[in-house]
Amino acid sequence: MIDLHTHSLFSDGELTPAELARRFEVAGYRILAITDHGDQSTIDLIIPRVAAFCAEINRQGGIQVIPGIELTHIPPQSIPALVSKSRELGAKLVVVHGETIVEPVAPGTNKAAIEASADILAHPGLITEEEVVLARERSVYLELTSRKGHSLTNGHVAQLARKTQTPLVLNSDAHAPGDIWPVARLRDIVVGAGMTEDDFQTMMNNAESIAGRCLTSKK
Ligand SMILES: [Zn+2]
Ligand SMILES: [Zn+2]
Repeated sequence: MIDLHTHSLFSDGELTPAELARRFEVAGYRILAITDHGDQSTIDLIIPRVAAFCAEINRQGGIQVIPGIELTHIPPQSIPALVSKSRELGAKLVVVHGETIVEPVAPGTNKAAIEASADILAHPGLITEEEVVLARERSVYLELTSRKGHSLTNGHVAQLARKTQTPLVLNSDAHAPGDIWPVARLRDIVVGAGMTEDDFQTMMNNAESIAGRCLTSKK
């Protein structure tokens, strides 16, 4: 199993990267991305440190960890430059904190993230059909989430993704041990959003394909 959206104490998570990785490994996960909240003032502190941690732990042969970032509450016009800067700093996976209905995320964030070719647009809230189509065209994955609050619009995202054949990925957005979703119950989130077992399998395959790309990328 794979989770491509989690937080350590480099932002507002409770665990060090090492404990986060260990707990996901024990819960049955093979691959994890650490995607702490970052902005203009913190990405240069977070990304190189998480990248160095991942390089070291990945040599141990257990769980494979991908260094990422979640660009959070960035003014939409600054998103393209920060996506590029994050990749330069060593982020193999760039997530953008989308327009969840439970936080005052700036309108235009979803569109800017898609146009900037982020890897994943997290919890995109009441994203429009036009933006969902654009995500498919730009190969940006939209997220279904088990995170409380953000998950309120999973059904909306799932419905538009199905209608437009846009790829989805399922993540926990874990901040604490209790957020690590049991592998055996992951399908419940997908089925609970009105999708099928086949959709769940497709989402697992999508995560595999993103993770494969991140773990083999040299830059
Ligand atoms: Zn977020
Ligand atoms: Zn997050």
